[in-house]
Amino acid sequence: MSENTSSIHEFDLNLICEYFSNFKRQGPGSPEVTLKALSFIESLPPDARIVDIGCGTGGQTMVLAQHVTGSITGIDFFPAFIELFNQNAQDLQLRDRVQGEVGNMEDLHFDESSLDLIWSEGAIYNIGFEKGLQYWYKFLKTGGYIAVSEASWLTDERPLEIEQFWQDAYPGIDTISSKVGQMQQAGYVPIAAFILPENCWTEHYYKPQAEIQDVFLKKHASNPMVAGFIANERHEALLYEQYKAYYGYVFYIGKKI
Ligand code: SAH
Repeated sequence: MSENTSSIHEFDLNLICEYFSNFKRQGPGSPEVTLKALSFIESLPPDARIVDIGCGTGGQTMVLAQHVTGSITGIDFFPAFIELFNQNAQDLQLRDRVQGEVGNMEDLHFDESSLDLIWSEGAIYNIGFEKGLQYWYKFLKTGGYIAVSEASWLTDERPLEIEQFWQDAYPGIDTISSKVGQMQQAGYVPIAAFILPENCWTEHYYKPQAEIQDVFLKKHASNPMVAGFIANERHEALLYEQYKAYYGYVFYIGKKI
């Protein structure tokens, strides 16, 4: 990796928000994977209380809502994402059970022991995997579940270039066995961990981005930051192609007993 490569943290948040508003999902994932994770969760009550933390525009939330009977609250930092989230729920006639709210995953206002299921795809890294698992624990009922997806190393060793990229992007990245250990230490029984298939990155994440990047660049031609941002996204997609044997997204499902 070139030393000049910027980290996503350096770009304007509104710009990132506008860019990612173009997509169904704001992280790697797919409807099939959401349902696979859901298949490990047994005996949700018919009136289950579910929270999707870092929900984005709600791609995965709507899939969940169509396969459970309870009510779902989506929480995200970005008001623009929540607006799209609530519009999506409305369009799918899910608005009576699905509610998006602006909120901070580090400062939640649910009652203790009130939730049957905490969901979070591609978002827990914002608080940190361990810290998020620990902090969110008290909101779950005994017998409740947590299902989160998280960038993880697939091997014990990896080439320096990709090691450095992730140390900069998210130093909390770790091996699957370490993450499962952290889940157990946070008080959950680890129920399952599975690696998301490649198409969650290629078909569902990088391809929709590639399709709009030229238009986005043209629209913001006067803003030099945009060229840097798009170059960064393209670089990330190339790194995935080159190093996908060493890292991926992994779903971790745990139960509070
Ligand atoms: N779950 C969605 C979005 C993943 S992207 C999907 O899988 O498609 C990560 C999301 O976390 C973004 O929507 C971002 O706005 C949100 N986020 C980042 N920091 C947050 C915080 N502190 N509290 C709540 N949401 C946050």
